[in-house]
Amino acid sequence: MSVLVFVEPGDELSLQALALARGLESELHGVSVGPAAVAVDVLHLAEIDGSYAPGAWAAAVVQLIHQLSPTHVLAAGSDNGNEVLAHVAARLDLPFAANVTEVQGGEVTRVRWGGSLLEEARVHAPVKLLTVAPHAVAAEAAGAPVATESFAPELGERDLAVRVQARVAASGEGVSLAEAKVVVSGGRGVGSAEGFSIIEELAGLLGAAVGCSRVVTSAGWRPHTDQVGQTGTKVSPDLYIACGISGATQHIAGCKGAKRILAINADAEAPILASADYAVIGDLHEIVPAITAELRKAKGA
Ligand SMILES: Cc1cc2nc3c(=O)[nH]c(=O)nc-3n(C[C@H](O)[C@H](O)[C@H](O)COP(=O)(O)OP(=O)(O)OC[C@H]3O[C@@H](n4cnc5c(N)ncnc54)[C@H](O)[C@@H]3O)c2cc1C
Repeated sequence: MSVLVFVEPGDELSLQALALARGLESELHGVSVGPAAVAVDVLHLAEIDGSYAPGAWAAAVVQLIHQLSPTHVLAAGSDNGNEVLAHVAARLDLPFAANVTEVQGGEVTRVRWGGSLLEEARVHAPVKLLTVAPHAVAAEAAGAPVATESFAPELGERDLAVRVQARVAASGEGVSLAEAKVVVSGGRGVGSAEGFSIIEELAGLLGAAVGCSRVVTSAGWRPHTDQVGQTGTKVSPDLYIACGISGATQHIAGCKGAKRILAINADAEAPILASADYAVIGDLHEIVPAITAELRKAKGA
């Protein structure tokens, strides 16, 4: 009996998927495009040009499924992990359960509706295709595979029809939202694009990334890349500062991985207070500059 995990080298979410797979107590196989520091029994290195090509990566996984007949195939609940397993499912005509937090044989618990409910489901398939909900399982430490085997998947033209040909760095500088230790986020309460200057100033002092709610991106105050939530980026900082954000479930889906949440809101009844560890009730246009001024004083700046 074996379990196969699709691994992206250097990817924290892949280490979370491995941690869940290890609990299945089967021989653990990994498949990756490029060498990966993962403690599996066998790491299968697919000889494919490293740039992302979901069809080609899925073809590699399908080939290994035929070879190993694993009981389960897991991948990270990332954009790439979900896309590759969706291709695998389509090619094998199998069901696919995304955002899983627990597995017991064919039974899975998975996150649904942007994190507002946990579903217990039974997957009826000879091979269970699962992605692991981000930050639901502690990542295991990087390690070294016991054995490594290279293989060249048979690829057709259609497998490479979609592929990344170039990467363009995001405009703007600073800390990446997904990896930031502190995020200062603004919602409708900020009031305008210009209003974000106080959010940016505070973020700059804290070495934080700036985030926002969907209302803000819909209004064109900030780019979509700054959006936190179900349809934006999922963040897991040590501290998430939500300024003028009501705390809709779709927003909380993106920030509930934060270790601590500080809400700054004019409304003492705002739903975000149910998720917040700390709250300051009042006008953010006064509170945020006051925090910034205190930080400057403390830093002697
Ligand atoms: C399918 C779907 C996907 C979605 N995906 C996302 C997503 O990824 N991310 C996301 O954020 N939303 C998402 N939404 C939208 C979500 O439902 C909410 O509409 C949105 O999050 C609300 O944004 P907000 O909190 O900025 O605005 P509001 O809900 O209008 O809240 C504004 C808050 O600011 C406070 N406020 C106002 N003025 C001040 C002030 N001067 N000082 C302090 N506080 C003040 C108010 O008390 C209020 O709590 C999605 C919705 C759907 C249907």
